[in-house]
Amino acid sequence: MIADVDVDIVAFLHDEGFLGPDAPEAARAVLEAEGLTRPGKVRMAEAKLEAARLALTTFLLRACAGCRTRALTDADGRTLVEVAQEACPYCKGSDNRRAVSELVAACKARGVKHLLIVGGTATLHAHLLDLIRQAGGGVQLRVVDGAEAVHTRNEATAHMQWAHVAVIWGSTPLPHKVSQLYTQHPLAAKVKTITVTQRGIAGLCTQVMRAIAG
Ligand SMILES: [Zn+2]
Repeated sequence: MIADVDVDIVAFLHDEGFLGPDAPEAARAVLEAEGLTRPGKVRMAEAKLEAARLALTTFLLRACAGCRTRALTDADGRTLVEVAQEACPYCKGSDNRRAVSELVAACKARGVKHLLIVGGTATLHAHLLDLIRQAGGGVQLRVVDGAEAVHTRNEATAHMQWAHVAVIWGSTPLPHKVSQLYTQHPLAAKVKTITVTQRGIAGLCTQVMRAIAG
């Protein structure tokens, strides 16, 4: 015999990421509408949890206030529920994660699949790649570590031929002779070439996004 197990509904909704002033109530309303619980009930049978999770993800989409605009493009008929940043699937409380997620969406909307980054450190590149992957991918990154490698005009040409957008990350260790290979390259007239002055990943994403949209 398996004993009937039930769970506290408030705790269940908390675990499912419905954190915030209005989120638990909105989630509970869905469970009631789907007949999975009824008003006043405190606990729910464990056997219903799978159906409850399915109902929540079918009808609701969680996002923090900052990720609201980004989430609207994914809503697909679902109701947007504002949750606390740490429960937000887009940024998980991180400004960098949010910025990268927005940049990936903007690139996809504009058909930008190849992003060339000239400048930045290996650590920043690895972090950026990781965040792009977590944001669902769809944008390929090619990076040029300006401080380390030796660059020739031919290498710059190959990179510029590949790139849909070239980003010159000017605030990072990047010798002028390297950045000039790109900013003064004949293809810079055709390939959108953006000079970024911000140091961090979130700042880079914001500046690139603005330039792509403009
Ligand atoms: Zn968020």
